Amino acid sequence: MTGTPVKKKEKEVPPSPPLVIRDQGKGARYDRVGFLGEGGFARVYEIQDSKNRRKAIKVINKNAITSKKNKTKLWAEIKLHQILVHPHVVRFEDCFEDQSNVYMVLELCENGSMMDLLRRRKRYTEPEARYYLVQLIAACQYMHQMNVIHRDLKLGNLFLDADMNVKVGDFGLAALIENPGDRKKTICGTPNYIAPEVLFDQDNGHSFEVDVWSVGVIMYTLLIGKPPFQTKDVKTIYKRIRENRYEFPADKEISHSAQDLISSILNPKPDERPPLDKILSHKWFLDGPFPAYIPASANDFAPDYR
Ligand code: ADP
Repeated sequence: MTGTPVKKKEKEVPPSPPLVIRDQGKGARYDRVGFLGEGGFARVYEIQDSKNRRKAIKVINKNAITSKKNKTKLWAEIKLHQILVHPHVVRFEDCFEDQSNVYMVLELCENGSMMDLLRRRKRYTEPEARYYLVQLIAACQYMHQMNVIHRDLKLGNLFLDADMNVKVGDFGLAALIENPGDRKKTICGTPNYIAPEVLFDQDNGHSFEVDVWSVGVIMYTLLIGKPPFQTKDVKTIYKRIRENRYEFPADKEISHSAQDLISSILNPKPDERPPLDKILSHKWFLDGPFPAYIPASANDFAPDYR
């Protein structure tokens, strides 16, 4: 055969942001020092400011947000993230733009996402799960007080700072409840973590309880090593969510109190799910060691709390 092979159309990779990123308006300068990861339409880099403080910067190429819908989504993410200031929410420090990109300067989470840690460790111990869940629930209580529903809580959006403390990030799907009692109707979330009412009760809509559901999925995933409704195809995941079909595998022994708490959170009826303060007072939180801190070695090995 002759001729040149047909080249497959490749996904367009936007050009890298400059090595020195300048916020012209404020006269600030950031040196790009490393790459941290990428998501939907953003790439995230490690940067250093003029005082050598390390931060993260989320870079969105303007060519990726030409549609009105994508622009609205990005402004909503910035607007909501900006108002949230809490020890367990990734700190939003600044945002600006140049000709090519929109930039969001964020607190750097040195230890990556809790999903990265799960991949290395396979599962978390119960004492670790207690520690991380208390921090996650504190962040949720704060977000809900601020009338924000995160709507995409999952291990990939929970980050760990240098001291192994949880920081909730990625407000790309978050929603503000502007009037008490308002309900949201958009189907959104990540299949494994999505609450049943988002999928199957669109007439009635959904509210803060969807985050509580995700907390239950997160707790199960930490302790068992994979999400409760996981299968190969999304349709079957949704079918399992609809039927509330999941099990606690016998070979991955977890305590009865942990099973009891998970089952109570994964209640298909949102108004019967325990509120966040009720979750915190569940006996599982006192049913074994509660670590004073998590050592960095937990990135690779299960800490021993006996
Ligand atoms: P998207 O909203 O497009 O999904 P994310 O906010 O999830 O993008 O970020 C993509 C990746 O960048 C994450 O999976 C993580 O690896 C990395 N990342 C994001 N924010 C931070 C941060 N503050 N500190 C360290 N790494 C981060």
